[in-house]
Amino acid sequence: MIEARELLGPAGGARDANRRRMLIEIMIKADRQSRIARRSGLSQASVSTAVQELAEQGVLESDRGQEKVRGRSAQVRLAPIRGVAVGIDISHDHVTVVARRVDQRYDHVSVQQRSDGANRGLGRLMPIIKTMIAEAVEETGQTLDDVVSAGVSVPRMIDPRTGRFTTPVLLPWREDEQPADELARYLGIHVAIDNDANLGAMAEQIYGMDEPAETVVYVKATNGVGVGIMIGDMLYRGHRGMAGEIGHLTIDREGDVCECGGRGCLDTIVGSGSLLAEVRTSHRGSTTDVPVSLPSLIEKAHARDAVCMRVLQDAGRTLGIALAQLCNLINPRIIVLGGELATGKELVLEPCRQELQRYALTGAVNHREGFLLRLSQLSPYTEAHGALILGLRSCQLEESGVE
Ligand SMILES: [Zn+2]
Repeated sequence: MIEARELLGPAGGARDANRRRMLIEIMIKADRQSRIARRSGLSQASVSTAVQELAEQGVLESDRGQEKVRGRSAQVRLAPIRGVAVGIDISHDHVTVVARRVDQRYDHVSVQQRSDGANRGLGRLMPIIKTMIAEAVEETGQTLDDVVSAGVSVPRMIDPRTGRFTTPVLLPWREDEQPADELARYLGIHVAIDNDANLGAMAEQIYGMDEPAETVVYVKATNGVGVGIMIGDMLYRGHRGMAGEIGHLTIDREGDVCECGGRGCLDTIVGSGSLLAEVRTSHRGSTTDVPVSLPSLIEKAHARDAVCMRVLQDAGRTLGIALAQLCNLINPRIIVLGGELATGKELVLEPCRQELQRYALTGAVNHREGFLLRLSQLSPYTEAHGALILGLRSCQLEESGVE
């Protein structure tokens, strides 16, 4: 069987950088030839020639003949080949690992999830993550030697110039801990890392919609709020990877002090800690029946608890006001809501939509003009899918072998 490691490696069948880029995009998602050209930034003609040659070599399969008759761009996918791509999402209180054979559909992933995260301390978490990777890869029917790429998602800013944490690094993360480097030593390949909301946006643009939108915003709202911004198929990271830190937008100048040192940041109002504190206050000191986590608060809201419903609806409203500013700045075609807060569904989404309508320029959030605000359909694996995409796009196979 053909091996992805050979195809993508330095001496591989992917003769030049363009062909390699095209193959990686097909591994990310089998797609119409025209869309593969767009995603890999190549001309239709070069993709067409490469697809034909690689189909003759048995690397690709294409329905070119039939689709030409219908006047549509051909659907291209990989022939059965050996190779696995991995995506790892490290959150504060959970870890998700997805692994997928590169010749399989994007949603055919093996998933490992643990409710243990960076709060436990990254040092103690790393052996668990390695076991999870090994188990997820084994479930695909292949081995760690077949892994061609891996990406890591973290709820921290990553400096695009260095691939390391942007300083200052807030606890429980530490500047000297580099999860991507440690996993790279374990897997014997380069491992890429980026911010969770950034990777969520990447996953939504590719997997979350039939017709890819050019400007996509993904909102990850859990402990705090961050957004990932895709503009014209590119992730907008900013100079030091600090783009999209909407959680530190000042909403209330008289509000509480935030962990960043600011006052009245969005995070101090809609972060999970603040929402739980609001419910506690409403119970006037009584601890019975007070939710202790955001998921339990949301569960009570879905069970029609008046206090929890109100807290979620107000969070949706405040989020809507912040997102309205973002709409006026960058005019996205679609905003996708993800993270734990999004599991509040319409209780969060509807008030958010109303405030967007009220505070954004009418033309920027007009549904008749194609604007969309919706929940992530890839949840709860959105960020892990994004990490898998990042890993493939950053694939480097100079080294080989597993530690
Ligand atoms: Zn702040």
